[in-house]
Amino acid sequence: MKYPKLRELREAITSLFSAPYTTKFPKIPSPAAPGYRGKAEFDEKECVVCGACAEVCPPGAIEKIEESAPGGKRRLVLDYGRCIFCGQCEANCLTEKGIKLTTRYDLAVLSRTEAQTSIEDELIFCQHCGESITTKKHLAWVRDRLGPLVFSNPNLFLSSLSEMELIEEKLPRAEDIPLERADNLRILCPRCRRELTLKEEWG
Ligand code: SF4
Ligand code: SF4
Repeated sequence: MKYPKLRELREAITSLFSAPYTTKFPKIPSPAAPGYRGKAEFDEKECVVCGACAEVCPPGAIEKIEESAPGGKRRLVLDYGRCIFCGQCEANCLTEKGIKLTTRYDLAVLSRTEAQTSIEDELIFCQHCGESITTKKHLAWVRDRLGPLVFSNPNLFLSSLSEMELIEEKLPRAEDIPLERADNLRILCPRCRRELTLKEEWG
């Protein structure tokens, strides 16, 4: 019994004068290993709130919440409590830069509601039935890529004219009012656009 006690005493005295063995976490977090998949974060500038990441997220950690017209927004809420850090959101991001897995691993919070991040943007609605189409940022992203080809798609050129305040935004009408030729110059969801095209072609 005598010798082990002496050894512990020697270790205790030595440790008083030596550098600490532990890191200074959380004050100074240790750097993550290369390629570490940590907390995923949206990029306000690059994310167009299209919702593609929510579609591919295996555990459904990204929830898509949509308000109704007019002035409604789409909100994507990422719950770190459900995230499995698989990287599918980053790999399938429409803009390739809208969401990134960082090397941050410290996700300790006092309440589950704090373990979330979100991003939102204003929605564009069908001016016939009132269904949401997509976000303003998403349409602008498509327009920027298409250049002059936007004139082949009424939704794209009408939304750009409305953003430039060259035309007034039209409110959705009652769905039971039948679509007519003049509605070609309304922003329509794919279902209403198809219905109008078929009516024009086949009567
Ligand atoms: S731009 Fe990328 S991160 Fe943003 S909603 Fe679309 S897929 Fe998700
Ligand atoms: S890393 Fe995987 S689980 Fe986490 S939000 Fe992205 S897709 Fe979903």
